[in-house]
Amino acid sequence: MNQRWPDEVPKARLGALATLPVFFRLVGKPVLLAGGGDGAAWKAELLAATGAQVRVFAVDAGEKMRQVAQEIAGLEIVPRAWTPADFEGCALAVGDVSSDAEGLLFRDAARLAGVPVNVVDRPALCDFQFGSIVERSPVVIGISTDGAAPVFGQEIRARIEAVLPQGLRAWAQAAKAWRPAVMARNLDFRTRRRFWERFTRRAMEQADLPPQDADLSALLAALDADVGAGPARGSVVLVGAGPGDPDLLTVKAVRALQSADVVLYDDLVSPRTVNAARREATRIAVGKRGYKPSCTQEDITALIVSLAREGKRVVRLKGGDPMIFGRAGEEIAGVLAAGLPLEIIPGVTAAAGAAASLGLSLTERETARRVQFITAHARNGRLPDDLAWAALTDPRATTVVYMGVKTLPHLVERLLAEGLDPQTPGIVVERATWPDERRIVGTIVELPGKVAQAKPAGPCLVLIGAALACVPLTRDRVF
Ligand code: SAH
Repeated sequence: MNQRWPDEVPKARLGALATLPVFFRLVGKPVLLAGGGDGAAWKAELLAATGAQVRVFAVDAGEKMRQVAQEIAGLEIVPRAWTPADFEGCALAVGDVSSDAEGLLFRDAARLAGVPVNVVDRPALCDFQFGSIVERSPVVIGISTDGAAPVFGQEIRARIEAVLPQGLRAWAQAAKAWRPAVMARNLDFRTRRRFWERFTRRAMEQADLPPQDADLSALLAALDADVGAGPARGSVVLVGAGPGDPDLLTVKAVRALQSADVVLYDDLVSPRTVNAARREATRIAVGKRGYKPSCTQEDITALIVSLAREGKRVVRLKGGDPMIFGRAGEEIAGVLAAGLPLEIIPGVTAAAGAAASLGLSLTERETARRVQFITAHARNGRLPDDLAWAALTDPRATTVVYMGVKTLPHLVERLLAEGLDPQTPGIVVERATWPDERRIVGTIVELPGKVAQAKPAGPCLVLIGAALACVPLTRDRVF
């Protein structure tokens, strides 16, 4: 299992698909349905709803089927058993059969005629299956568990039902109706896309208000303003990716990733987090780890600016929170100097992630009145000389040290010399919030030796302070 710090470039490939969800237009097409029972009646109704010409072969159609046939045009009951000739020219065939043997015959007859077939409740005989449906037509959502557990599929359906407003139907219909007016303007791809992005935002924000002609006018006016403003401008979003667990991305971060053209990410960002990006987005690793000459901070800033100048929506995905030890200042200055629009989306900083997974409050009413985040790594790689020692030896402080493993022995030595109690508890958390998170626990005096033994290879935080005495150390994953 690859739970180690991942080196590989994240891929946007699809995993294996049990089935291919396709949306089949059936208007006016003949569909063969065998069976006259209640199950078949429901299938008949479903198929007829697509506008198909449904021919139901049933020697003895039940009451429900007769009722459906009466109410729905395009549904005809043929009061006899199906024959192989009936498959001729059909788009689909569905058989609600009474035995495996009949199912097999039905399947073979369909195959011979080249018609895709579904035999109800006999997945092994099916070319295609019916999913659970969320209907906001023309928006149609199909859900399949590939027969694994229909009840599970129904629950998923219920959840999607709950979050999708009914009014989406009207907005999707409006999209169809307004499309010709947008196309008639002969806009380039990006401008057209901006129209549909604005449309989508409006549809989502006011889904339950019916779309009006005034909405179209407003959207077109915004488009004209864009066209007057010249070619599409790119933009930059600095996004906090959190400490590792992809579920710690904010909703805003996911939205930004979903509309990115390019994602520049650094080493601390997990592949699954990067893959929250739009499938089509270009992903570029710009890690500074290993100090590759191609990825200096200057290069990264220059790359961000040049991509945005090309009109791209650039997401700069940074580990933790972008504004904490992330050199965001240089990127912000570069983007603003280039006159490009900039947005910043905060993330869960490593200290917050570690505190949560330790079950530790960084502040305690009596014992920890100060929380301080420091870096123990100066430009030259050594312990910075100008740290605020009085603050760091404050017995009522919790100190979180970023980039502090290499210089830990020096830091501890200096803290003791400055008067910190040698019994002060300390914890090193490696890869906080990752599945293979590790903790190294001891007094501040013991910590450097234990770290040397444990040889952490991933990113680590050093936490120091009396508050750490409250960590429930009985939990697993303690070194
Ligand atoms: N902006 C980031 C910090 C970047 S500096 C944030 O807000 O978290 C990089 C340092 O952050 C690492 O050397 C390490 O000290 C710390 N760090 C980042 N992710 C971490 C994680 N999952 N576990 C422990 N420390 C982490």
